[in-house]
Amino acid sequence: MKICILGGGVIGTTSAYALAKRGHEVTLVERGATLAGECSFANGGQLSYSHAEPWANPYVFPKILKWMWMNDAPLVLRPRAEMAMIRWGLQFMINCLPARADRHSEVLWRIGKYSRDKMLEIIAETQLSFDYLDKGIVRVFSSQAAFDHACRQLELQRNLGCQENALSVEEVFRLEPSLQHADTKIYGGVHSPIDASGDVNTFTCELGNYMRKKFGTDIKTGVSIDSINMRNGRVSHITTSAGDLTADHFVVSLGAYTPLLMKPLGIHVPIYPMKGYSLTIDAGEYAPMVSVADDNRKIVYTRLGNRMRAAGTAEFAGYNDKINPVRTAAIHRGVKALYPKVDTTHAKEWACLRPSTPDGPPIIGPSGIANLSLNTGHGTLGWTQAAGSAALLADLIEHRPTAIATDGLMLARY
Ligand SMILES: Cc1cc2nc3c(=O)[nH]c(=O)nc-3n(C[C@H](O)[C@H](O)[C@H](O)COP(=O)(O)OP(=O)(O)OC[C@H]3O[C@@H](n4cnc5c(N)ncnc54)[C@H](O)[C@@H]3O)c2cc1C
Repeated sequence: MKICILGGGVIGTTSAYALAKRGHEVTLVERGATLAGECSFANGGQLSYSHAEPWANPYVFPKILKWMWMNDAPLVLRPRAEMAMIRWGLQFMINCLPARADRHSEVLWRIGKYSRDKMLEIIAETQLSFDYLDKGIVRVFSSQAAFDHACRQLELQRNLGCQENALSVEEVFRLEPSLQHADTKIYGGVHSPIDASGDVNTFTCELGNYMRKKFGTDIKTGVSIDSINMRNGRVSHITTSAGDLTADHFVVSLGAYTPLLMKPLGIHVPIYPMKGYSLTIDAGEYAPMVSVADDNRKIVYTRLGNRMRAAGTAEFAGYNDKINPVRTAAIHRGVKALYPKVDTTHAKEWACLRPSTPDGPPIIGPSGIANLSLNTGHGTLGWTQAAGSAALLADLIEHRPTAIATDGLMLARY
C-alpha cells in the first residue's frame, strides 16, 4: 500500500518505520528542515514505560487551583477565552476523578509496556546510537505526602504487573549517588528498573536515515501541508507547499497541530498544546546515570552522553511556543536544588508544545474516514510510547489482530 505520513516528529517517523518494515511504500512529510525539529527536539529524554499516572488525577486536582495564580508553578492551567481550551480544561477536570485516573493508568501501562518491547526490537534491528542508557528512572519526592501518594500509585501499578520499588533516602543515594549533594530534602524515591533514556532527536533523525537507506522511504522535509482533501468520502490527496500528494492511506501525526488540519474535515480531535521547557547543559560530570524525576517540581534530569538535560513543567498558553523567562527560571532553580554544583549560565533553553489529550493516553488508529488514521496526542510521553504506538497503528491499518487491546487508545473513546 502507498502510505503518506503527515508530520516527522518521533511519532510520525516511528510510524513510517513500522509501515516501511512491513513492505509498504511510505512517504513522510515534514515542514521543518529536518525531522524532529519541534516537540521531539530537546525533551526530557526519559523512556518512562512505567510512568502510568496521567496528569489528570485526583492528587493534582486541588493543586491546579493553587498553581493557577503562580506563574512559575509546575502546571499552569489558566482558563483562556477560547472554546477549545475551555472544552479541553473541563474534560481534564472530569478525568481527575479517581476511577477515571485509575482506568487511564491501566491504558498508559498497557501502551508503555508494549512500547518497551517494540523499542528494544527497533534498537536490535537498527543498532542506532542515541545516547541510550537502560539504567532505569528514579522519581524523588520532597514531601512525605507526595511520597505516600506515590506509594499508593505504585501498589495500583503492581496490581497491573508493573514492578517498581519504593526506596528510602539512603537507597535513593546508593542507586544514584549524584543526588547526595541535593540542596533540597528528599523523603524517598520510586525506582522503575525497566525504564531507560536517550536522545529523541538523534534517534528520530537516525531512524529517518536508516529507513531511507534500508527501505527507500521517501522523506520530504521542508514541505508544509496546507490541507487534507476529500473525494467520495475518502482522502484523495494532501495539498502541500511542494504540490499535491496522493496515497492509498494517510496517517496524521502532526503533534500539537493535529486538530488544526483535522477541523476542516469536521473531525474534532481533543488535543491542546501544553508548553514545556528544557535546558541542555554541558555538565556530563554531574549528570545522573539513572535518570531522575523531581516529582514536586515536575522536572526530569537525564544524562545524554556528556550533556545533562533538565526538562519539564506545563503551561497552557495556546499555540505560542515562545520562551517565557519566568518558566525557564523555574527550571534553572530546579537544577540548583538537585545539582547545586551545576552552572546553568550557558544552558541552551528550549520550549515546545506537547500534543496533550485531556485524559492522558494517545489517540491511535481510525479517524472516522476509511483511509485516514491518527497517531497523535502523546502529551508528556511521546518518546516513551512511540515504538508501541507505531506497531499498533500498523496492525490497525493492515486490519490485523493487535498485540494489545485498543480500548482507551482510539478517537472513538471521546
Ligand atoms: C519539555 C518537554 C519534555 C518532555 N520530556 C519527555 C520525556 O522525557 N519522555 C517522553 O516520553 N516524552 C517527553 N516529552 C513529550 C514528547 O516530546 C512528545 O510527546 C513527542 O515529541 C510528540 O511527538 P510528535 O511526533 O507527536 O510531535 P512533534 O515532535 O511535534 O512532531 C509533529 C511534527 O509535525 C510537523 N508539522 C506540524 N504541522 C505541520 C504542517 N502543517 N505541515 C508539515 N509538518 C507539520 C511539525 O513540524 C513536527 O515536526 C516532553 C515534551 C516536552 C515539551
